[in-house]
Amino acid sequence: MELAGRAAIVTGGGRGIGRGIALALAEAGADVAINYRRDEAAAKEVVEQIEGMGRRAFSAQCDVTDADAVDAMVAGVDAAFGKLDLLVSNAGIASRGQLLADTEVSEMRRVIDTHVFGAFHFFQAALPRLRKNDRSDVIVISSVSPHRTPPGHGPYAVAKAGLEAMAKVLAKEERRHGMRVNIIAAGVVETDLGRRLVKFNLGDELENVVSQFPFGRACQPEDVANLCVFLASDKGSYITGHTIFLDGGDGIGAMKQG
Ligand code: NDP
Repeated sequence: MELAGRAAIVTGGGRGIGRGIALALAEAGADVAINYRRDEAAAKEVVEQIEGMGRRAFSAQCDVTDADAVDAMVAGVDAAFGKLDLLVSNAGIASRGQLLADTEVSEMRRVIDTHVFGAFHFFQAALPRLRKNDRSDVIVISSVSPHRTPPGHGPYAVAKAGLEAMAKVLAKEERRHGMRVNIIAAGVVETDLGRRLVKFNLGDELENVVSQFPFGRACQPEDVANLCVFLASDKGSYITGHTIFLDGGDGIGAMKQG
């Protein structure tokens, strides 16, 4: 198994893309810790599935915007797995599709706080542990949004741009410690958040527009998860500091470009 003996954290691993990643890492042999904000039942179900595969797993209620809660969650990995060598920074939220002119300061802060400071808190808590290994990996889940900058994506595009810049700096700073840091920039992925993004941007349900997407389908959590497994495996060991577009070759698919 590609990831046998690895110990991972997947933020927001209870639902959507994070759930797919957590299950795929475990299937590839890793022990996996996940955090959630509200949905305890979903997180517990993922932990049960991972344990059913014979791996170790735990979930913790931990808002990524709360640095103390993040420190406590990451420390929990020491006791549970004895090490940490893979961090997937995935937890995130959509914004409300408003024009920048109509975006409240509190909304801009909420989205940046979650995507940028949420990842920053996890980086800071995880780095001393990640550095202990000959090899470690950080994978950041971003979007095509900061590259395509469609109207209505102000807070989300700004937050993801900040997240990507931070990950690229990290890749350069930590390479001497054996760390690989990569970014997956996904197009619309079929999750609760993906459905909301389509509704905000196209005013329609995903099912009604999906035929216009590349290959006639939305990206699935499993597509993102498969790429995570590859990047963290021996086969991905010479890849770092990159943004990999997982968009079917079509940027933001059917989203309006203004
Ligand atoms: P979902 O809404 O399906 O799941 C989001 C997950 O993040 C949940 O597990 C949620 O926890 C967790 N979460 C959100 N905010 C916090 C917080 N403050 N603290 C802790 N956990 C939090 O979203 P997706 O799976 O679609 O999105 C995952 C990531 O992928 C996000 O970063 C998103 O921006 C990115 N992305 C998504 C795309 C899409 O089309 N779906 C496209 C490109 C990127 P809980 O279950 O407790 O609410």
